[in-house]
Amino acid sequence: MKMYSPTEISEVLEFLQEHKESGILLAGGTDLIVKYKEQSLPYDFICNILKVEKLKYIKEDEDSLKIGPLVTHEELMESSLVQKHIPVLRDACKTIGSPQIRNRGTIGGNIGTASPAGDTLPALTALGASLKTISIEEERIVPIKDFFRGPGKTILKENEMIKEIIVPKMKEEKGFYTKLGSRNALAISITGVAAKVKCKGQGFEKVEVAFGSVGPTVIYKRVKELEKSNFTKQKLWDAVQCIKEQIYPITDVRATAEYRKEMCANLLYEGLNKILDYNSII
Ligand SMILES: Cc1cc2nc3c(=O)[nH]c(=O)nc-3n(C[C@H](O)[C@H](O)[C@H](O)COP(=O)(O)OP(=O)(O)OC[C@H]3O[C@@H](n4cnc5c(N)ncnc54)[C@H](O)[C@@H]3O)c2cc1C
Repeated sequence: MKMYSPTEISEVLEFLQEHKESGILLAGGTDLIVKYKEQSLPYDFICNILKVEKLKYIKEDEDSLKIGPLVTHEELMESSLVQKHIPVLRDACKTIGSPQIRNRGTIGGNIGTASPAGDTLPALTALGASLKTISIEEERIVPIKDFFRGPGKTILKENEMIKEIIVPKMKEEKGFYTKLGSRNALAISITGVAAKVKCKGQGFEKVEVAFGSVGPTVIYKRVKELEKSNFTKQKLWDAVQCIKEQIYPITDVRATAEYRKEMCANLLYEGLNKILDYNSII
């Protein structure tokens, strides 16, 4: 297997164009190296993109944060811009792996690996993020909701890479990401729930929710049943139960579909309840 270590985006694009089927990108390597060891990957060429400085930044404009794919989970957690404008993503990064994994793993790699359990994916989906992709031929902007096709599958063409993650700033909205794992550290998510909500009176004007680890890709819902202004704790509990009719989780070694449904409703209730409590309106 041959390894390249370019320093410019243009060189990465040339690599992808030249090795469409036989080459793969490596960022932090926390997913790819595990796969390589477990199943020896069917690639002859690896392009290590870690030295491409132009893919590592967090910038803001009036309405959004723009994040380079090489930003690590630790850097996202420490970023004051992320904390201020998109704290839901910070919540998600905090739950990832161990300090070593968070220091090495990148947001681009988390998206690129397209695992149904990837923790940044529900957070980015609820936040309404888009991805800028690039190839030698074109640049495209794709809503993250439309990016995944199944476990390990995305709409990326063989000569394309993720160049930027664009996340709208939360202005009036509040939100959270919360995850249920089998233990506190180094646990793959059994269910991850992210939400972005606009508050109104004793409730919500708009509720957008994304669930991870419950299907082959992230499940996004706008939950109209929760868009009411008269919630007590009991009414909120009753209303979140609707989610169980709207998602069709998988049963696997980590949990049954029924358990996952219950947990999705519970985690959603907990998170929304905290937001209402925070506003002192219940
Ligand atoms: C012990 C352990 C614990 C973990 N815990 C968690 C966890 O709790 N939550 C979680 O979500 N993940 C977890 N992971 C998985 C992993 O750490 C993350 O998915 C990480 O974000 C991957 O980033 P990376 O830079 O290491 O990706 P890499 O391994 O380098 O790449 C992963 C994939 O993404 C592709 N890729 C990378 N960059 C790009 C790009 N710019 N454009 C297109 N494709 C690209 C690569 O080609 C590859 O297919 C864990 C992994 C380990 C080993």
